[in-house]
Amino acid sequence: MNSTAPLYQSADVLYANTDFSKLNWVETQWAAWYMWIGNPVIATGLMSFLLHEIVYFGRCIPWIIIDSIPYFRKWKLQPNKVPTAKEQWECTKLVLYSHFTIELPMIWFFHPMAEMFEMSTWQVPFPSLKIMGPQIAFFFVFEDMFHFFAHQALHWGPLYKHIHKIHHKYSAPFGLAAEYAHPAEVMILGTGTIAGPLLYCFFARNLHIFTMYVWITLRLFQAVDAHSGYDFPWSLQHILPFWSGAEHHDFHHMAFVNNFSTSFRWCDRLFGTDDKYRQYRARVAAMKKAGVSSEEFAKMETQMIAEVEAEGVKAEAQAEAYRYGSKTKTA
Ligand SMILES: [Zn+2]
Ligand SMILES: [Zn+2]
Repeated sequence: MNSTAPLYQSADVLYANTDFSKLNWVETQWAAWYMWIGNPVIATGLMSFLLHEIVYFGRCIPWIIIDSIPYFRKWKLQPNKVPTAKEQWECTKLVLYSHFTIELPMIWFFHPMAEMFEMSTWQVPFPSLKIMGPQIAFFFVFEDMFHFFAHQALHWGPLYKHIHKIHHKYSAPFGLAAEYAHPAEVMILGTGTIAGPLLYCFFARNLHIFTMYVWITLRLFQAVDAHSGYDFPWSLQHILPFWSGAEHHDFHHMAFVNNFSTSFRWCDRLFGTDDKYRQYRARVAAMKKAGVSSEEFAKMETQMIAEVEAEGVKAEAQAEAYRYGSKTKTA
């Protein structure tokens, strides 16, 4: 189908040249959605918002259930800190508030922006997996690097105090807390998620919004899972050693310092912002190797977590005490 066909005309004209017999089920539904809504801007906006809500809260549900079952506690990274139902509800309210006030308008402006960069939206069929795979890999790497630097900037005193502090409310995070953040933070860090596809599209002029939806779905899974607070023997980081996972990001919330990236471990490794994290992991490994009883281990682990957290509280206070021109070192 000609991707430069004029938009905003009646939907059946939009698909006049499409051979529906060659489409798969998802592609047929996709075209049916655009035809049913009749206006591509509304169709894209609504679908993007619904996708975000369904994937985000849908991915949180298993973690809410896991938190309510004591059996899973043995894999909890901070075993003594299980979120209460009240905490989860408070968190959900703020997340929903920011979804409707910040994300909804942002998503709404996305279609015109996508068109400006000549991204395909209503067009079918979708690109092949061979085309989507490398594009999504690029978005992952781009977002991870962007986040690494932007997140560190948010730890600078004034930005921390006014923006990022909200996200650090939970020193032991849980799935729903992934998007618990100041609206400005949602915008700043969200840029890393959408700038990759827009830049790619600007230069390559070959991107379908469906590919972007796959990317956003994976990115939401990554964000929710990284905040889950659990490290299972089957967690992805045990299969892909460069994957961050909850084990990596949970430490960031607990210790306040270290581990600024999202999906991968290499940025923190390369820039040395994982030294405290690796020390902590080495201590835990040594304790396990020493063959202490599980009760003894739990006691020592609780003490170690308390120590790391106390240092984190100090580092946070230092960041907040920062004044322009003062020599106070920020965390
Ligand atoms: Zn942070
Ligand atoms: Zn976080």
